[in-house]
Amino acid sequence: MQFIDTHTHIYLEDFKEDFSEIISKAKEENVKKFFLPNIDAKTIKDVRALYESDPKTYYPMAGLHPCSVKEDWQEQLDQLRSELDTGDYIAVGEIGMDLYWEKKFKPEQEKAFLEQASWAKEKGLPIVIHVRNAFDELFELVDQINDDKLYGIFHCFTGTNEQAKKILNYGGFKLGIGGVVTFKNAKLDKALTDIPLENIVLETDAPYLAPHPNRGKRNEPSYIPLIAQKMAEIHDVSIEEVARITTQNAKEVFGIDE
Ligand SMILES: [Zn+2]
Repeated sequence: MQFIDTHTHIYLEDFKEDFSEIISKAKEENVKKFFLPNIDAKTIKDVRALYESDPKTYYPMAGLHPCSVKEDWQEQLDQLRSELDTGDYIAVGEIGMDLYWEKKFKPEQEKAFLEQASWAKEKGLPIVIHVRNAFDELFELVDQINDDKLYGIFHCFTGTNEQAKKILNYGGFKLGIGGVVTFKNAKLDKALTDIPLENIVLETDAPYLAPHPNRGKRNEPSYIPLIAQKMAEIHDVSIEEVARITTQNAKEVFGIDE
């Protein structure tokens, strides 16, 4: 059995103290690969350092998170773009729209998303989308640019069944499912009952959103099986089956062949 944590921020300060312990725990739980989305220009160094330490374990993405789109967004994009041009990156991420904290930079968030999505198309890479309180706005943007070159992941999907189907209808996207699926009040399990596992990849989004029974604590990659177990229950299959299908999905989307 092998899992991939397709969205994890283990390069952050939160993991500095016990990093090697965190990784051995994850490997004991069969989580063998870690995909690392950048957040902004400041995180480039740590993401890259981890990737260079073991390129077959840590896979980097380059992108400007919508919450980091501020006055200097264009400069940040320039830095992320030159990083991406090194050719070491498996995806453009994380990018998207977030109107939960503030709406002030909505026009800039839109421009940053569209520009980064066009990089992905140009380079033949997937995009990893973060969306919070902005589904309709983001769908409008994807509607504008969707074609057979646009593909990727809607990360940390927590929407409705209707929204899940709308995303899958685009043709090139899968849903990144994390700890929220284990939250009793989130009802995400109900939204996913008729969504085949072929459309799902697993992620922790560590250090955020730890699954039940660790809700509220620091999240870490070794919790992936808790999410997989819940998906197994929803679809009435074994956890081994969930591991097999979601790992294969992740490898396909991100173009990993080992
Ligand atoms: Zn993230």
